[in-house]
Amino acid sequence: MVAEDKVFVARHEEVLLLLPWYANGSLSAAEHRAVDQHLGTCDDCRKELADFQQIQNRWQHAPVDLAAESGFARLMARIDAAGIPEAKPATAHESDRAAEGAAARSSGLLHRFSE
Ligand SMILES: [Zn+2]
Repeated sequence: MVAEDKVFVARHEEVLLLLPWYANGSLSAAEHRAVDQHLGTCDDCRKELADFQQIQNRWQHAPVDLAAESGFARLMARIDAAGIPEAKPATAHESDRAAEGAAARSSGLLHRFSE
C-alpha cells in the first residue's frame, strides 16, 4: 500500500465515524471542512452520508404514536394512584437463613467444580 493510500484510508475511517454528526450539523467548523473535503474524493462516504440523511429524514417525519403515549401516561397514572407498598425490612432471623442458604449453595457449587 502506498503512503498516500494509507493517509486516504485513515481519513476515510475517521470521516465514517463523523458522518452521523455531519448529517445532523453538529460538527465543529474544522471537522465539517475536513469531512467536506473527503466527501469530494470518496464515493463510499458520499453513499454512507446519503443513507444517514435518508434515515434522519424519515425519523424527523415519522408520525408520533399518540395512542402509545397516552397509554403510557394512563399506566403511569394508575401506578401513581395505586401507590408503592413499603418494602418490609428483613428480620435478623430471615437474613441469617438467607445467608445460610447462599453459603450452602455456593459450597455445593465449589464441591461440584472440585470433583
Ligand atoms: Zn471515505
